[in-house]
Amino acid sequence: MSPSDRKKRVLVFEAHGDDMEFTCGGTIAKFADRGHEVGLVVATDNDKGSFELSADDLRAARDREIRGGARVLGVGNIVCLGYSDGDLREQAPPDVLRGQFMRIIRELKPDIVFTWDPFTPYEGHPDHRAVAMAANEAASFAHFPLYHPEQLKEGLEPHHVGEQWYFAKAPRDVNKYVDITGYIDKKVEALLQHEGQMALTVRDIQYELEASGLDVPWLAQLDPHDFREVIDRQIRGVAAAVGRGAGFEYAEGFRRTSFAAILRLAEGQELQEDV
Ligand SMILES: [Zn+2]
Repeated sequence: MSPSDRKKRVLVFEAHGDDMEFTCGGTIAKFADRGHEVGLVVATDNDKGSFELSADDLRAARDREIRGGARVLGVGNIVCLGYSDGDLREQAPPDVLRGQFMRIIRELKPDIVFTWDPFTPYEGHPDHRAVAMAANEAASFAHFPLYHPEQLKEGLEPHHVGEQWYFAKAPRDVNKYVDITGYIDKKVEALLQHEGQMALTVRDIQYELEASGLDVPWLAQLDPHDFREVIDRQIRGVAAAVGRGAGFEYAEGFRRTSFAAILRLAEGQELQEDV
């Protein structure tokens, strides 16, 4: 299927500075490379994401790392909401976060919203669950004028989001694979911009290694700041495993708006794919 000619606006809602890179970095790079406009909303300030740095140090590094990753992928507009990492539910009750997200959607008018899947099983992080539910509801109802009418009184207009793409954690949920073979290098490079988070990721893998009782001496002895090779292998390994199911060398998988009802009414027409 040939890519659609219409340039679209894509908006990613994430909980933490590196969620986009891990879950959809290759796909976002591909959208941007094809001339679509990509924006990013980061809900928290990452201030619990380290085994060694203070919360203040983490906040100071956050902006630089987020902008570094976004630059590699071709993301333009970045909105940081600055909630404390891990405490999103306490600081922003669901209706408050949904209202904030709806306001951003009505301002930036995305055609496609990417976010965590509110209905995926086994999601352990409360910030991911909070962002997922709020973004899903905001994107589903931003075109309903009776939701948050105070925003319309301020001059914003209702806006219909055409598609929602959820980061699929379980293979059974995937109904859209994106071939990212040409963008895997950018995905890895974008992740490597998040130096603090990557050191944390390696240290976390080392904790798992210890708990597993398995013997991988080079990994056990690795300085977590020497993260490049582990992250590269980890990311390529996951993308290759997802790709095997779809016939691509490297892929990312999503649960996307199905359009099933419209396709039934459209009498044999096919969707034009953007990526
Ligand atoms: Zn996260």
